[in-house]
Amino acid sequence: MTAYDPNNIFARILRGEIPSTRVYEDDETLAFMDIMPRSDGHLLVIPKTPCRNVLDASPDQLEAVIRTVKKLAIAAKAAFDAEGVTIQQFNEAAGGQEVFHLHFHVLPRHEGVALRAPGQMGDMAAIATHAEKIRAAL
Ligand code: AMP
Repeated sequence: MTAYDPNNIFARILRGEIPSTRVYEDDETLAFMDIMPRSDGHLLVIPKTPCRNVLDASPDQLEAVIRTVKKLAIAAKAAFDAEGVTIQQFNEAAGGQEVFHLHFHVLPRHEGVALRAPGQMGDMAAIATHAEKIRAAL
């Protein structure tokens, strides 16, 4: 397996080297908004310690991340009055992963509303408003 790259974009977000819209953090995990949201409220949860994905993550990293995923899934569902939540996670390029620091996508969903296409930059003002709604629901 390829080694962890300490200069991947999420490692740089963790170090505060590039901006992010943070919604929650604890000692072990960080949650922030996806800049190319496929639904309103689309956020990412990552461990603060390095690992590429589920394949090299420790049980402790996975436990901490999934606890935060659950907390944020409940908050995002409430914030957007959603009927469901999609949780996505990709491993290595062949598995659809583009950023090689473990992350889970949390996407509030409404009945009959499809996800937007991937790779479309979001409106940063709208993302900030969505983040505030999620913080308020936490
Ligand atoms: P994947 O590795 O396939 O799960 O995709 C990486 C995800 O990270 C995509 O949904 C991107 O929109 C998102 N992303 C990439 N760069 C940033 C960033 N600087 N801030 C927030 N989200 C990002």
